[in-house]
Amino acid sequence: MNSKANKSQSSMALAAVAFQDHILKNMTIGNKVDRKRFTVPNKTKKKKIEAVVDTGLKKKQQAIPKEKEKEYVIDAKPQAPTLAQKLGLIEYETNYLTEKDWEQVKGKSNEREDHKQGCPICKENFDCEREQVLLSCSHVFHRQCLTAFERFSGKQCCPMCRKEKYQKRVIYEGARYHRHFSATKIQATWKMYKVRRWYRKLRESIPPKDTVLRKKFFEDKLSELTRNVVNEIDSRATNSLLNEIDENLSQSRSIFQQFDRAVYGATDEEWNIIQVKALERKETDCPICLTKLCDKKTLLLSCSHVFHFTCLGAFESFSDGQKNCPVCRSSYKKRPFYN
Ligand SMILES: [Zn+2]
Ligand SMILES: [Zn+2]
Ligand SMILES: [Zn+2]
Ligand SMILES: [Zn+2]
Repeated sequence: MNSKANKSQSSMALAAVAFQDHILKNMTIGNKVDRKRFTVPNKTKKKKIEAVVDTGLKKKQQAIPKEKEKEYVIDAKPQAPTLAQKLGLIEYETNYLTEKDWEQVKGKSNEREDHKQGCPICKENFDCEREQVLLSCSHVFHRQCLTAFERFSGKQCCPMCRKEKYQKRVIYEGARYHRHFSATKIQATWKMYKVRRWYRKLRESIPPKDTVLRKKFFEDKLSELTRNVVNEIDSRATNSLLNEIDENLSQSRSIFQQFDRAVYGATDEEWNIIQVKALERKETDCPICLTKLCDKKTLLLSCSHVFHFTCLGAFESFSDGQKNCPVCRSSYKKRPFYN
């Protein structure tokens, strides 16, 4: 009896220990290699501080060369069965994903276009610099970000769906998308630049159809021409040309003044005085036809009397060329009357 009781007691104790061991193992992260990655020895720290002189002679290597873009599972080694699993107390399953399973998981992630959204932890886009990991729950992160999260939380638990004990695989969907996106952007910018240059040239040579734009186009052309002409002419030459024009003007003005005196018998100033005199009398009717002066073309005589042009003409032809004012009988010169 005693030996039987002892046996069952010891097997119960064994089971308890096995359970405890199993739970403890599950609680800690089996991934001890990653922890080492973060304890940076002093040597490498010193190396990082050294200044690097880039002479440009060495060809820069891409962060992830294309042939190296091979996907791989991190820590693929299956976990050894715990004592509890060995005793058959807990089911031992090595559900490590095959290539086909990984394809399915990646397909799910690609359907959601996770690689375009960026890393959910740091909110930055995936690029060629930092590695991207796909979890067996189909969520993607930066490898660095996920490792930091694991260290921070002390366990393996997906930050998005809380799935524990996931498997990780390095993928390059984000890097590929980033490269494609960058190339597209560069091409678009270059095309835009080309088109804009082409359009500007077109606008310079072909006048637009819209009237407002057309007017502006020709205005610009004209001002450009004028600017070119001004730039071409030497300033001294311009001054001498302007002086010459001034001289010519003053000469022709004096000639015209002499002409005025010959024709109208008085200078402009004298005529002005005569006109003021005529206006002061406030005569509104033509003394010949006795109708309003303002209706027709009028003439001012040097005696300051005002007549209709046609009336005075008729009077002159009637009086046979003798130029005496019909009002005051004095001889006169005549000029158009500007009221
Ligand atoms: Zn990140
Ligand atoms: Zn998840
Ligand atoms: Zn008249
Ligand atoms: Zn008169």
